[in-house]
Amino acid sequence: MTANVSFLDQLFNQGILYDSGVDGIYGRSADFEDVISRFEDLALSLGKDEISEAMVFPPGMPMTDFETSGYMKNFPQLAGTVHAFCGSDHDHMGLIQCMAAGEDWTENQKKTDLALTPAACYPLYPILAKRGPLPESGAYVALQSYCFRHEPSKEPTRMQMFRQREYVRVGTEEQTTAFRETWKQRGQEMMDLLELPHHVEVANDPFFGRAGRMLGSSQREQELKFELVIPVNEGASPTACMSFNYHMDNFGKAWNIQQADGSPAHTACVGFGLERLALALFRHHGFDVKAWPAGVRKSLWG
Ligand code: ATP
Ligand code: ZN
Ligand code: MG
Repeated sequence: MTANVSFLDQLFNQGILYDSGVDGIYGRSADFEDVISRFEDLALSLGKDEISEAMVFPPGMPMTDFETSGYMKNFPQLAGTVHAFCGSDHDHMGLIQCMAAGEDWTENQKKTDLALTPAACYPLYPILAKRGPLPESGAYVALQSYCFRHEPSKEPTRMQMFRQREYVRVGTEEQTTAFRETWKQRGQEMMDLLELPHHVEVANDPFFGRAGRMLGSSQREQELKFELVIPVNEGASPTACMSFNYHMDNFGKAWNIQQADGSPAHTACVGFGLERLALALFRHHGFDVKAWPAGVRKSLWG
């Protein structure tokens, strides 16, 4: 790879991603999407005997559920909310004049009942809660969603809109912690199959502000989050391509999800960053998918 052209520019030049002019918002090529679908099939095949349900969510979620998630308390800097024009004819004329004059035209954009989904598993919890107490076996859900995070960056691995594929386990402490251990193992096996250099390390979420630093260190101490990291960007630390999270009974309490015995459910999720995993594959195996190592091609395309 040419040293003086950034990885992002190489991706544009090779037609893998399409530049929109805004950092973190890219079009994806057919090859890029094919790699993602193949990776998803691989991930799904590993959990097929365990899942109780599979779901795909749109990129927005109900504002009330977004509020319940506590996201604005922990990560206000990353959140996106949907606003829409709610004015009169008169307001509309004002809007058009402001736009024509290059002035701020957003005065009558008002809050809607939607937020952009920040994490793929959030829309699941209220759905489970509404069903009442879980069966003894709990829930084991495969899901996918587009997610939004306001973190524009020149690193192609840090997008503003990207997809997470997740497995989510909801039930007892034992069920959820065993699930997380299993997937930590499986995640590493998948990366071996795909011949990607990787390791797993303890991690913390990017909690906002000074109080957030304390939340982050307590999350690390309790080993609530692990990440599988892969070197992708030149001269930067390796990139988190999967995460393995245990939320204890925090979400069970927040959304009132009950175990069979009525106590708050524990939850854990494993998240695959689909764009990041595709980028790791392009980084390590080259831009031509047909020239990828035979073992990698077999694991993805059979
Ligand atoms: P990072 O540490 O890089 O900020 P994160 O810890 O915030 O990532 P999670 O909240 O655990 O990430 O999200 C689950 C997965 O989603 C991550 O492991 C990663 O693969 C992917 N992901 C997170 N943020 C982005 C992003 N901005 N662009 C692309 N993929 C992302
Ligand atoms: Zn999750
Ligand atoms: Mg992280």
